Amino acid sequence: MADSKEGPKCGQCRNLVSDAQKAVLCDGKCNSWFHIACGGVSEDEYRRLSRNKSKLWHCPGCDRKRNDDGHGRRGAECAAELDNILLKLKTLEPTGEMESAGTDKGKLGRPLGSRRG
Ligand SMILES: [Zn+2]
Ligand SMILES: [Zn+2]
Repeated sequence: MADSKEGPKCGQCRNLVSDAQKAVLCDGKCNSWFHIACGGVSEDEYRRLSRNKSKLWHCPGCDRKRNDDGHGRRGAECAAELDNILLKLKTLEPTGEMESAGTDKGKLGRPLGSRRG
């Protein structure tokens, strides 16, 4: 039974997580161990986590789900704001403001243009 080695397996690479290796336990849904490299945890972060046992860590997969929940509303608000901005842009477009702005620029560029024409 070479498979029944003791110890948890990394939720990312599926290799055994030994005591000698630096690993963090996900407190999210998967509740798996991750090598710090596999979980994207820096040495500093690992030290902080191992020092402060009450500090919980979530693997990228579980973290993303949490973020999705938390930012869902914000995203909707942003989308609504974006719609407003787009509406304003649309209302500006059909007016002649754009053209007049263009002629202003044309005046500035006149010396060059007049030589040509
Ligand atoms: Zn791993
Ligand atoms: Zn997880």
